[in-house]
Amino acid sequence: MNLYELTIHEARRLLDAGEVSAEELTEAVLARILEVDNDVQAYITLMPEEALEQARAIDAGGGSGAPLRGIPLAVKDVLCTAGVPTTCGSRILENFIPPYDATVVARLRAAGAIIIGKTNTDEFAMGSSTENSAFFPTHNPWDLSRVPGGSSGGSAAAVAAGECLGALGTDTGGSVRQPAALCGVVGLKPTYGRVSRYGLVAFASSLDQVGVLTKDVTDAAIVLGVIAGHDPMDSTSVDAPVPDYTAALTGDIRGMRVGVPKEYFIEGMQPEVEEAVRAAVDQLADLGAEVVEVSLPHTDYALPVYYLIAPAEASANLARYDGVRYGLRVQGTDLEETYKATRGRGFGPEVKRRIMLGTYALSAGYYDAYYLKAQKVRTLIKQDFDRAFEQVDVIVAPTTPTTAFRLGEKVDDPLQMYLSDVFTLSMNLAGICGLSLPCGFDRQGLPIGMQVIGPAFGEETVLRVAYAYEQATEWHKRRCGL
Ligand code: GLN
Repeated sequence: MNLYELTIHEARRLLDAGEVSAEELTEAVLARILEVDNDVQAYITLMPEEALEQARAIDAGGGSGAPLRGIPLAVKDVLCTAGVPTTCGSRILENFIPPYDATVVARLRAAGAIIIGKTNTDEFAMGSSTENSAFFPTHNPWDLSRVPGGSSGGSAAAVAAGECLGALGTDTGGSVRQPAALCGVVGLKPTYGRVSRYGLVAFASSLDQVGVLTKDVTDAAIVLGVIAGHDPMDSTSVDAPVPDYTAALTGDIRGMRVGVPKEYFIEGMQPEVEEAVRAAVDQLADLGAEVVEVSLPHTDYALPVYYLIAPAEASANLARYDGVRYGLRVQGTDLEETYKATRGRGFGPEVKRRIMLGTYALSAGYYDAYYLKAQKVRTLIKQDFDRAFEQVDVIVAPTTPTTAFRLGEKVDDPLQMYLSDVFTLSMNLAGICGLSLPCGFDRQGLPIGMQVIGPAFGEETVLRVAYAYEQATEWHKRRCGL
């Protein structure tokens, strides 16, 4: 087996036993990047020298006992890294070098992780295919003519191709879970408030959450344990103890109640996705879970509600890119012309579309009809989940309506693109947690993802169910043919 194919927990064992050094592991991952990243294009920035230097320091005895000691990880390029460019996949931040690490990055480093590079993303995390990156699209390692999903497509592709052992992504409406599903890896979006967002460049502040992408459920539990927890620098992070998530991985789900929402099997979805998820539900029943049909009646409103709230918040958050304070400046004849020229050149078409939608939804005369109304319906969506979780421990549903689509297929049709997140948006609106894991392959050999959804701070329950399923199946062991 190649070292780059290891999971985090497998590498942990080899590193601790002294059978592999952190330098060897880092070199294997860097060599793998050289081998495949011309095709996959998962990374915007690589940090090979820093990574090797850190690996040597660890081999010399640094960071002993730290949970991620010597593990090469990647970070989505919307998370600040001190002294290393943080572009958000945008021209407007192409030359932005943050003076500090995001809290999650600092926590990875403190846990001994080696940050190997910054991964590609849709511009400001707006998109579902990573094609909205201002620099280049990322390709799906299972089929290079297809998208890896998005917006954390760089992170998902890097994990799937063995270009890192795990990665951080962010999920505002599905951007960790959807690319995880399309790339055949595990993607976990924690509860709103579970993980600090200090140093995450804001997209939609009431929805954004940092998540993890890994090769299996055990690794997701390990990395979540490192990044979760209160941060005085983020007032939305919740001051609640962080459990030992790996302790939830018992393999035993007897007597647990699994809800299957009838609204999540819709017309137009790829039949193979429905078949795979239904078979997975049967498997959970075989493992001793009690399967119950549940209803989330406001599901149809999630997409319109999300596409009012997310652009509204984005339009406010993106006002700071004015050519004065950050990144790109295109000088105009006066201040207003400078704003216009900077934003006109710095932002791509999807970002401009969102700023216009959001500004409209927040404008006097329309605020009540659009933004306020959307917030009210958001409450109804959350109440659907509250009611469902009175009956069940977790909800299981498809992560996406289809497997990976072709590059270019949806770029000219934003509505079609928005639809790829229909099954993931609701959890962000409700602030709850969800995990996508592999549950099959379609006839073309493309991965299918299943979502395990839990109530707020239900990560342990979600991980427990996902782990039991994973251990009973072989899907997570398949690797792309690259
Ligand atoms: N695809 C959704 C959007 O474009 C979700 C993005 C995300 O979760 N960052 O808004």
